[in-house]
Amino acid sequence: MITIDGTYGEGGGQILRSALTLALVTGKPFRIDNIRGGRAKPGLLRQHLTCVQAAARIGDATVDGAALGSTTLLFQPKAVSGGDYTFSIGSAGSTTLVLQTVLLPLALAGAVSQLVLGGGTHNQSAPPFDFLQHAFLPLLRRMGFVASAKLRRAGFYPAGGGEIEVSIFPPDTLRPLVLEERGSRTGQRADAVVANLPWDIARREVATVGQMLNWSAEDLHARSDAQARGPGNVVLITLEHENVTEVITAFGQLGKTAEQVASEAAQEAKRYLATPAPVGPHLADQLLLPMTLAAGGRFVTTPLTPHATTNIAVIRQFLDIAITVTPAGNGLYAVTVPGAG
Ligand code: ATP
Repeated sequence: MITIDGTYGEGGGQILRSALTLALVTGKPFRIDNIRGGRAKPGLLRQHLTCVQAAARIGDATVDGAALGSTTLLFQPKAVSGGDYTFSIGSAGSTTLVLQTVLLPLALAGAVSQLVLGGGTHNQSAPPFDFLQHAFLPLLRRMGFVASAKLRRAGFYPAGGGEIEVSIFPPDTLRPLVLEERGSRTGQRADAVVANLPWDIARREVATVGQMLNWSAEDLHARSDAQARGPGNVVLITLEHENVTEVITAFGQLGKTAEQVASEAAQEAKRYLATPAPVGPHLADQLLLPMTLAAGGRFVTTPLTPHATTNIAVIRQFLDIAITVTPAGNGLYAVTVPGAG
């Protein structure tokens, strides 16, 4: 039995999600102790519990410890079945993180799946829907996976109530992903979205991004979302290059000015643009599992985050493959992933 220590490395929810994904794909059971042991409030929160329940449902798994606050879990999957599934988090918990857990097992299940996920679609410390849509899924498709997503309604913390729809088809051929250079810039845009808040916040945010990045009005888009259930505000900066698109995000928060929120996003965009690395820190940790489970490959990125190094360690517990990280010059690193096929 694979035993995982939830305090290892980054010590958060990602260890659990990666273990669930790997268990479903390999059929190997695991036990995890000290779930989210590195967090101030450890144990399963609603989002993590929904990930466990969703994984158990698609993999007809036997589970022990699936309860809010639980710090130990035993997960023993059977074969994964594609099909139509609805998973509601019942709070503003991240729908994209629940998707992160079940997407690859369903993609490799040999049948078509249609998912509806309810909860938050734009959450702090999680991939916002736009990142999924414009950064992550296109790279998955390049590896041969066949998946697309649609935003039915945005959901922000704390009201939630968002909904996304995802279609997943069995792949024909899985290909290695090679991302060593980003190529030249093919597009750029900044979106500021407000829901149930004054439009002027969004206007000030795009003005700040425009000033800090020296972008013109045609790159700046301020809009109001009339469908979201509660208040919300997000700034999204999309940087398109020939070989990769990155989406950089900052969230509005009580006590922060529009200018502060926008400048967080603009500073991060500047940091990304200051190096030639095609893969930013969030994509880096999120590409490891699909590359491992597809045909591997190689990418260049900035120094690996604890999320990425922890993911490498969890992958190693399930599969006998060695992901290597080597200096690529100018403070960048090349990550080589041997695909498990
Ligand atoms: P915990 O509450 O334990 O921290 P969690 O389940 O909310 O856990 P993490 O374990 O921190 O989440 O994992 C967060 C995931 O979301 C990582 O894969 C990270 O790359 C991704 N992520 C966070 N912020 C962004 C962002 N702005 N854009 C894209 N992806 C993001």
